[in-house]
Amino acid sequence: MNFTETLQNLTGKPLAHCTNQELYLALLELVRRKSADRVQPVTGRKLYYISAEFLIGKLLSNNLINLGLYDEARDALAAAGKCLSDIEEVEPEPSLGNGGLGRLAACFLDSLATLGLPGDGVGLRYHFGLFHQSFEDGVQNEKPDPWLTEHSWAEKTDITYPVQLAGKEYTARLYKLAVTGYEGRTNTLNLFDLDTIDESIVHDGIAFDKTAIDKNLTLFLYPDDSDEAGHRLRVYQQYLMVSAGAQLILAECAARGCKYHDLADYAAIQINDTHPSMVIPELIRLLGERGVAFEEAVEIVTKTCAYTNHTILAEALEKWPRAYLDAVVPQLMPIIEKLDALARTRTEDESLAIIDRENRVHMAHMDIHFTHSTNGVAALHTEILKNSELHGFYALYPEKFNNKTNGITFRRWLLACDPRLTTELEKRIGSGFRKDAAELEKLLAFADDETVLNELTAVKKANKEALADWLLHTQKVSVNTNAVFDIQSKRLHEYKRQQLNLLYLIHQYHEIKAGHLPAVPLVSIFGAKAAPAYTIAKDIIHALLTLSKVIAADPEVSKWLQVVCIENYNVTAAEKLIPACDLSEQISLASKEASGTGNMKFMLNGALTLGTMDGANVEISQQVGEENIYIFGQTSDQVIHRYAVGDYNPAQWVEGDANIRRAIGFLTGPEMMAAGRAENLTRLHDELIRKDWFQTLPDFNAYVVRKGQALSDYACDPLGWRRKCLVNIAKAGMFSSDRTIAEYNRDIWHLGE
Ligand code: PLP
Repeated sequence: MNFTETLQNLTGKPLAHCTNQELYLALLELVRRKSADRVQPVTGRKLYYISAEFLIGKLLSNNLINLGLYDEARDALAAAGKCLSDIEEVEPEPSLGNGGLGRLAACFLDSLATLGLPGDGVGLRYHFGLFHQSFEDGVQNEKPDPWLTEHSWAEKTDITYPVQLAGKEYTARLYKLAVTGYEGRTNTLNLFDLDTIDESIVHDGIAFDKTAIDKNLTLFLYPDDSDEAGHRLRVYQQYLMVSAGAQLILAECAARGCKYHDLADYAAIQINDTHPSMVIPELIRLLGERGVAFEEAVEIVTKTCAYTNHTILAEALEKWPRAYLDAVVPQLMPIIEKLDALARTRTEDESLAIIDRENRVHMAHMDIHFTHSTNGVAALHTEILKNSELHGFYALYPEKFNNKTNGITFRRWLLACDPRLTTELEKRIGSGFRKDAAELEKLLAFADDETVLNELTAVKKANKEALADWLLHTQKVSVNTNAVFDIQSKRLHEYKRQQLNLLYLIHQYHEIKAGHLPAVPLVSIFGAKAAPAYTIAKDIIHALLTLSKVIAADPEVSKWLQVVCIENYNVTAAEKLIPACDLSEQISLASKEASGTGNMKFMLNGALTLGTMDGANVEISQQVGEENIYIFGQTSDQVIHRYAVGDYNPAQWVEGDANIRRAIGFLTGPEMMAAGRAENLTRLHDELIRKDWFQTLPDFNAYVVRKGQALSDYACDPLGWRRKCLVNIAKAGMFSSDRTIAEYNRDIWHLGE
């Protein structure tokens, strides 16, 4: 049977007569069957990657590519007058993640399956995932983002586990989502949910009764935690995930003959950030129920579990008030107390305790004491953990600390999202890079080949036009594709410094008004959601939207400068933005971005990075050489020193620098106040001059100069620019998540052994 006949069997009628919805469902079923054929038995150690987020994105195209069916499907549909990309539109995006951490988990699942390693995900089946963002009257509006439909990739099973929450028993049901690697095996993403969830309790955007646990527990990823009920709800969610997950792990291992004493020979558990940390006491508790003594259980769990740290921002390292845990998981508290006592026998350093003097439970501390591996996610990040943030732990357990620089799957972030570039690369260097990313280096042989450089320019231009069409179609925004496309897309957070970019744009506005015209027009694109309770982040969005309006209304400036905020930045949007980008904004305050993965995606797709020496930017810079990246700003050492001295005073920078004064003053000047809201603009203005916790102002002038250099290189030396792009693509191989996963396996997991 050829592909058309197979698909037709599933639809029951000629493809030409099918709706896109019918074709989507037929393809979903076909992928399911083909994926099932690639399930392989598990021998030896199997990985369980536990994570509160799996930002998997739409699955159809990626699955077709990994199963080797993409071209056949596209051609068979085209022959019937159908378009695969229209069918992809039917698929709702599962937004089961917030940003890099969740997207990393999804890339890791792809790489595990591609490398033929037994490794499953464990998480929650949120009904709405992260909120859907829209802009209304210049402010972010939040609504639920449904993705579950009658026919979804996640299949309901009969497997359930009892979970005790606040003394009441709930039933966690397992849903399984197949993860098939590129020419690889099929693994599983295990997602837990309650049957009793009631989506109808959501009202007024994303508000709901936070106390009705049986109805709300898996409604949203990261429910608003601006109040105590919201905080507690997160504890409920985390425990549901780890308790059901731990029971699943023990059941699967037992079915393979594990006697519990030898759990570490059957399972490796990776704790992705601190959200799943309660798996440690929960496993100890469950092993205890199965007759394993506390001391041995601690040893087994330590050997089985490993922890990944994703941040040095103190406020993001979870510390739960003991009272919450007493209320929600009273069965765990005696175990956590024993773990605290045991940790105290290893060190007298109070700052390394699990339960501190204020009765807060430090999840990261429990992870480091009671797992065998703690890793950072980029070389610089790991060094900062070892030398400052977690120095006391490093002194106690130097052997536990290791680095695993993040990576991205090239199947989604090159083959699927940039088919034009993929075709161009295959024409020049063959298709070996699909499986072995290091082969991209073969492209360097063409670094001085004008034909190849011009072809890369043509690919970029076509991608920019595709993005322009999409923006017109989805947001009714028209952009100039002859301009530089400068993109900052990532969560909205002060440490990522969208506000620095904002101040630059205001600066450019004034320069253009003063007749200092730039070398090339600039389209500055932002994609960012602000956490619902994060006021200043929302003020930054408001300022960007207001500036966009002010500029658009000024014909003198809008010829040269345009600011576009895309709504609801998610994986689908990222897949459109990244291939079209010329300049990738990675401008976090040095030392604050653990790694970043957006930076790798932009580089792979031939954008040049404008960035600070932070996170994986440092390694990107080492790979491509300093002439192929635009680095600016303070170093992490300077930043850490400035915090340590504690004498940073933004007002001094405002007083001492006319450009900074002009840019910040504009926020509350007549143009912005007339177009925006005084309350939001004033709050942001005051925050910047009084606090500026992420040191925007000291980096302002360096940023303006470096960005000016990049834009002038783009305009004045197009071949030189494209050559730099080529080097970036060629040197991206190290950032494949296949490399990252191979390292985790070599150093931490030892799967299949
Ligand atoms: N959101 C989406 C949809 C992404 O694809 C990514 C990254 O790759 C991120 C957020 C994280 O971006 P960054 O690494 O720049 O913080």
